Amino acid sequence: MSDQIQRFMFDHTNVRGEIVTLAAAYHEVLDRHAYPPAVNELLGELLAAVALLTDTVKLDGTLSIEVRGRGVLSLLMAESNPGGELRAIARIAEDAALPSEHASFRELVGEGQIVITLDPREGHRYQGIVALDQETLGGCLEAYFSQSEQLPTRLWLAADEKRAGGLLLQRLPEESQNQDVDAWDRSVQLADTIKTEELLGLEQREVLHRLYHEETVRVFEPKALRFGCTCSRERMSYALHSLGKEELRDILHEQGAIDTQCHFCHTKYHYTAADIETLLDDPDAPPPTIH
Ligand SMILES: [Zn+2]
Repeated sequence: MSDQIQRFMFDHTNVRGEIVTLAAAYHEVLDRHAYPPAVNELLGELLAAVALLTDTVKLDGTLSIEVRGRGVLSLLMAESNPGGELRAIARIAEDAALPSEHASFRELVGEGQIVITLDPREGHRYQGIVALDQETLGGCLEAYFSQSEQLPTRLWLAADEKRAGGLLLQRLPEESQNQDVDAWDRSVQLADTIKTEELLGLEQREVLHRLYHEETVRVFEPKALRFGCTCSRERMSYALHSLGKEELRDILHEQGAIDTQCHFCHTKYHYTAADIETLLDDPDAPPPTIH
């Protein structure tokens, strides 16, 4: 089963959807870290969610979802870029007891908020914030859609440390194109019957057939997804530059060189004392490139 997202539409209605399945990209994220199982599962759901949101809002740019909690997990973040690449990271609060295997979303994140940032290649950056006040990640993201996009949207997310999957349904505003007034309620009720093992184990077309074999579903060309990181020496240099001359010279004094590592992909970046001096001498340090 390949990592991909597929868009679909119910004919003669204003209901559309997306289905995503991730295996290799999900493994690439988990292989780089040693998070507890409950965190791995939530990270899988977040990866599926970021892919669904990016395609749903048809963004040509970078989209990130940051879950900023005050529970065991202080941060959970997933990001997509225009190349169909995804990356994600979790941060466990210092001194926190490791969560049990079956810890719920609420137990992991506690109170807090979700920050969704859309950074298009052209145009302005947009940020939406929703409270962490629902029982599931999907529930919180549904609240985001009703607040920010004002489009009724439902999400089903699942992950089991091997695969991550998600299904999204959305009712578009064009009521005039809708020849079937029950289409939205019916499609949501049918989606509610999906089992985790089906969402994670079946091919996307089989899931759609299992749920909607009595409907006329138009499926679009699937889009491939993969793991990818946007870190670079240029961006790392910018981050170092922002620490300031004194801080950098202090670290050099103690360590002789500066070694940093990307939190997402673990690529190492090494800076000698001479590299740092060049960086400090350059008043036009490179700006952070988003893409
Ligand atoms: Zn990286």
